Amino acid sequence: MSGRGMLVVVSGFSGAGKGTLMKALLDRYDNYALSISATTRAPREGEIDGREYFFVSRDRFEEMIVQDALIEYAQYVNNYYGTPKDYVFSQMEAGRDVILEIEIQGALKVKERFPQAILIFVMPPSGRELKTRLIGRGTESMEVIDARLKRAAQEAEGIEAYDYILVNDKIDQCVETMHQLIQIQHLRAGENEEFITRIREELKNL
Ligand code: 5GP
Repeated sequence: MSGRGMLVVVSGFSGAGKGTLMKALLDRYDNYALSISATTRAPREGEIDGREYFFVSRDRFEEMIVQDALIEYAQYVNNYYGTPKDYVFSQMEAGRDVILEIEIQGALKVKERFPQAILIFVMPPSGRELKTRLIGRGTESMEVIDARLKRAAQEAEGIEAYDYILVNDKIDQCVETMHQLIQIQHLRAGENEEFITRIREELKNL
């Protein structure tokens, strides 16, 4: 069967628990790699260059665009965000499924360029729960929380473009479902062309 890794795009509203989910998935299984994006936004306190993001200047980012070094990129609140190719492709070659945690515009570009990529949208169990989580996090003012909830309502309009939605109710269960969901994709006929060709050849020669 195919030894090549797949591209997995994960999006979700701010507060849906994507970060926690990704961390748990990577801690539990070693066949995944998380892509590190480049961005022109300034690092937040505690963020380290090369860990959360590659923090680059606007000039450097535009150079990366010209050099076709990015799989996709988007502008988000006056900053560029993009996925560098090299790491993603080398990890896929090594057989790892690579996760891109990106927003919706980028997700749609990935699907256009790589139709076999899997797009997953992480949902909170309810709208009310999203608000409770955002407030519970205690990191944002009520004004910012309201802005993020408005943004969530806008983003919700594009969810049908995703292949799957995953409800992040109980984290452990959600991690398991996500893992199973991704692994099942490796069984798609289109992911196994070499194997199919080999069996075909063998059958002809029996
Ligand atoms: P933040 O500034 O909060 O870290 O990220 C803002 C948004 O940009 C989030 O929705 C995040 O998923 C998205 N994002 C992060 N990296 C990329 C990327 O490489 N490409 C795209 N299109 N979006 C990204």
